[in-house]
Amino acid sequence: MSDPTMPDAVQFRHAMSAIPPYVPGARSAKGAGAYKLSSNENPFPPLSSVVEAIAQAAGDVNRYPDMAALDLTDAIAAKFDVDPAQIVLGTGSVAVLGHLLAAVAEAGSEVLYAWRSFEGYPIAVGLTGARSVQVPLTADGRHDFEAMADAISSRTRAILVCSPNNPTGPAVRRDEFELFMSKIPADVLVVFDEAYVEFIRDPEAVDGLTVLKRYPNIVLLRTFSKAYGLAGLRIGFSLSSKEIASQVRKASTPFGVSSLAQIAAVASLSGPATAELEERVEGLVRRRARLCAGLAAQGWIIPQADGNFVWLPLKEDAVAFAAMALESGVIVRPFDGDGVRISVGEGESVDRVLDVTARWLGRES
Ligand SMILES: *Cc1c(COP(=O)(O)O)cnc(C)c1O
Repeated sequence: MSDPTMPDAVQFRHAMSAIPPYVPGARSAKGAGAYKLSSNENPFPPLSSVVEAIAQAAGDVNRYPDMAALDLTDAIAAKFDVDPAQIVLGTGSVAVLGHLLAAVAEAGSEVLYAWRSFEGYPIAVGLTGARSVQVPLTADGRHDFEAMADAISSRTRAILVCSPNNPTGPAVRRDEFELFMSKIPADVLVVFDEAYVEFIRDPEAVDGLTVLKRYPNIVLLRTFSKAYGLAGLRIGFSLSSKEIASQVRKASTPFGVSSLAQIAAVASLSGPATAELEERVEGLVRRRARLCAGLAAQGWIIPQADGNFVWLPLKEDAVAFAAMALESGVIVRPFDGDGVRISVGEGESVDRVLDVTARWLGRES
C-alpha cells in the first residue's frame, strides 16, 4: 500500500540533474573489421614485456595492491626528477582529476575551463557541486586565455587547461601560458592536463615540468592510457607540490590502482620498453603528419593537431559525417553541432580516413 505522505523515489543531490552522462567513443562489433578511431587509443597491442609482467603478476590478485605503489612511484619520480611525495596515482587521470576537484571545489565555487574541451570536465566539476564556467575556444580551436583570465572570480577554485586540447588538437604555447599565469591568483589551483604530451612536437609548446617548478599552484595530469597504450588498465597520475599531493591523496580511493596496472606501468617505464614505446609514438606522429598533409591537400582547414587525433570543424554536419565514415568502416567521434574527432590509428586507417574525407567533400558533385 502506498502512503501518500511517503516519498516514492530516492532523493538525489540537486547537482546530479545538471550532470551529463559520459559518452564514450563508439565501439566496433567484434570481428566487424572497422577502424576504431573514436577514443584516441593507441592502436598498437601492448608490448610483449608488459604482457609478460601482467601475466606473472596475475597469480597474486587475491592480495590487495601496494597502496603506496612504491615501485611505480619511485620509477615515475626517477623519470621526471621529482620527489615521490609529489606524485598521486589514480585509476586513470580522470580519477585523479576527480580527487583534485574533490579537494578544492564545492557548492558555491566555480571551476573554469575552455569549451569545447575534454568531456570528462563538466562531469567531474558537476559532481563536486561547483559551477562550471566554460570559456569558448578561439576560432582555431585554441584556449582564449584573455577571456579565461577575465572570467576568473572570487569563487574560482580551479582552472582546467587541456594541452593539447581534446578534441580540437592545439597544445598551449609558453608565451600565452606565462602571461595567463601572471594573472592567476596564487590560491587558485591550475590543472594542466597533459594526457597527450608525448605527441607534441611544437617547440613553442609549454613544458609542464618547467612550469610546475615555477608555480606552486600548478598540477600536471599524466596518463598511461594514450602514448603508453594501457587504457584498459586504468592508470594515471598527477605531479604537484607535496602539499597539494597530500590533500589529493586524502580524496583518493584506497587501493584504487590495481596491482596489474602498477606492474604494467613499471614495466613500461623500464629502459627497453620506453625506447620501444617512444618509437611507436614517433610512428604515430609521422602518421599524424601524413593525415594532416592529406587533409590540407583536399582543402580542409583544421586546427593544429598536437595530439594523436585531428579535429574536423564540421558543425551541424558532424553526425552525418560520422555516419558516412561508419559505412566505410571508420568509427569516429562526432560532437553534435560542433565537429568530429578522428584518432590517428593503424597505418591503413589513415588512407581509409582520407578516402572518407575526400568523398565527403565531393558528395554533392
Ligand atoms: C584520455 C584523456 C585523459 C586520460 O584519461 P585516463 O582516465 O587516464 O584514461 C585525460 N584527459 C584528457 C583530456 C584525455 O583526453
